[in-house]
Amino acid sequence: MTQASGTRDGLEGVETRLFIGGTWRDADDAGTIDVLDPADGSVLASVADGGTAEAMAALDAAADAQAAWAATPPRERGELLRAAYELVAQRADQFARVISLEMGKPLAEAKGEVTYGNEFLRWFSEEAVRVRGRWMENPVGGSRMLTMKKPVGPCLFITPWNFPLAMGTRKIGPALAAGCTVVIKPASQTPLTMLLLAQVLEEVGVPAGVVNVVTTSSSREVGAALMADPRLRKVSFTGSTEVGRGLIGQSAEHLQRISMELGGNAPFLVFEDADLDAAVEGAMVAKMRNMGEACTAANRFLVHESVAEEFGRRLAERMSGLTVGRGQDDGVDVGPLINAEAVESVGALVSEAVEEGARVLVGGKPAEGPGWFFPPTVLVDVPAEATINRHEIFGPVAPITTFSTEEEAVAAANSSEYGLVAYAYTRDLTRSLRVSEALAFGMVGLNTGIVSNAAAPFGGVKASGFGREGGFEGIEEYLDTTYVAIPL
Ligand code: NAP
Repeated sequence: MTQASGTRDGLEGVETRLFIGGTWRDADDAGTIDVLDPADGSVLASVADGGTAEAMAALDAAADAQAAWAATPPRERGELLRAAYELVAQRADQFARVISLEMGKPLAEAKGEVTYGNEFLRWFSEEAVRVRGRWMENPVGGSRMLTMKKPVGPCLFITPWNFPLAMGTRKIGPALAAGCTVVIKPASQTPLTMLLLAQVLEEVGVPAGVVNVVTTSSSREVGAALMADPRLRKVSFTGSTEVGRGLIGQSAEHLQRISMELGGNAPFLVFEDADLDAAVEGAMVAKMRNMGEACTAANRFLVHESVAEEFGRRLAERMSGLTVGRGQDDGVDVGPLINAEAVESVGALVSEAVEEGARVLVGGKPAEGPGWFFPPTVLVDVPAEATINRHEIFGPVAPITTFSTEEEAVAAANSSEYGLVAYAYTRDLTRSLRVSEALAFGMVGLNTGIVSNAAAPFGGVKASGFGREGGFEGIEEYLDTTYVAIPL
């Protein structure tokens, strides 16, 4: 482990212990997990390494708090969420620094995540009071049908490292608004942001046991133990498709409700009639947000053969102008990747693409020196069937493949097992609607490189999972429906 070189401002006062039943405590065996700075591999902090006993204590707390929280008036639940939103906004700089330090992203992007992530607390603070059932006449007359909505009960949230705040608030906001209590297991690489958020929730007065946070290096065991308990009624997971599949299997025993936000392999289509300036601008956002470490990251650039050369040249020009460095330093556009394995896997995909016929316009090889850096990279002449087009890259690499017809482009886009988001650039209104309808994805960015918005339903189809976060749909994931038959 090397000594930290950058400033650690922002970490003072951030809890490193487990948060269970309203109490901060160490792991039973006092074990800890080191949180590393991806810019140099040094230790930022050590957080408690909870095991299954601590996780079960967290579920006990969530189960004990469930009835009272469900009975708390929706307005009160909403106002607590709103208070949390205000406090996160006040502390946005600290949240951004913690996110940037533990995850690596540039400070400006980390601030963007705070604004975006916090919006889920505001949106669902407003949705808490809009949960409603209905009263309906039997179509054949003679009786009435009443439906009522109820919170599903204690939930388990398992979140990834790439958006340490937003991937939590997307679940916590609707769950608390709906009247559910929660146990959160953040990614062990980036647990500090979630602990800081738990501090905020405690400070604004969310009752003990409603939110519990268990950091652990034994995710598999902890997840399995919690899901083996019938008191747990819902699991919401964001992460890899592989882990998601395992959790779906585990949910079968007690038929827990599940939401799965899994991997992506987003196609970015540029038609011959596209506004190329806008397409390059959108490509920079869709590819480079979060250093490409996003499930929504443009993964495959499918560009019409008549504009591919021009698009590739302009994209390479923009990519080569980006500054790579420590996320907290001024002027940095691209931070480090999360760990050494990420650099290795991105590098291997690039080498394989080159062996398969691709040409490197810019970047291509990991940077020398400490930290886990990979330079912005553009590959052209990538064969449609190249390995890199079939894998989620999770790094700052843009492979460009050409197409000649709209049908071919749509077929290539849909050929992936994933179906989270697709981007399409065209100025033809009819084509834009036709293509949006034909794309087998949960979300489409039409002439835009960004789709995420707390007011919109985020989620995928096929191997990208099911369930929606945000929008009017988001709270439904945390509600059961009871129907009452009433003869009149
Ligand atoms: P991951 O390895 O699946 O880990 C995600 C979370 O699951 C972490 O908290 C991890 O804990 C935990 N975990 C791992 N194995 C587990 C098991 N057997 N049982 C219970 N929990 C387990 O994914 P990642 O590498 O962190 O994240 C990248 C992936 O997330 C990508 O595929 C990306 O596309 C996807 N993602 C999807 C969305 C979306 O909304 N669709 C958003 C963001 C990311 P540890 O940290 O302790 O390993």
